[in-house]
Amino acid sequence: MNTEEPEDPQRRRLREHLETILIRTEKAAPWHDEAGRLRSLVNHEGFVPVRTRLAIEDLEFLAGARQEVLTFAELTLRLLDLHQPRDAGGITSDSAHPILRCRSCMWRWPCPTFRAMTESFGGALDALSEPA
Ligand SMILES: [Zn+2]
Repeated sequence: MNTEEPEDPQRRRLREHLETILIRTEKAAPWHDEAGRLRSLVNHEGFVPVRTRLAIEDLEFLAGARQEVLTFAELTLRLLDLHQPRDAGGITSDSAHPILRCRSCMWRWPCPTFRAMTESFGGALDALSEPA
């Protein structure tokens, strides 16, 4: 007997959409080093004229990048609001460090969703906290 649930079609479409974004983004050229170089060329009007050759993969990425980053940031903020610790109550031998559980999924804090978020953004957070 097959006890596996058939996959929810909405979940499957969401997964396909996210995989499409992931693949499209991986195909685009990274701009980190070039942006650093161009930053020093910004003129007195606050612009830098750019002549560049863009591959079709870069154009496809750039066409949706702003909206996709906004969507990911909004989603992440919503998840952060949903998954936060609360005192689980009950008796503990260490009253200074009460057992905390996620108020949304009820896993012991830090919950798997919050851990996934910190693992995904951990590198960026470390870079922000490094002294200049
Ligand atoms: Zn949670």
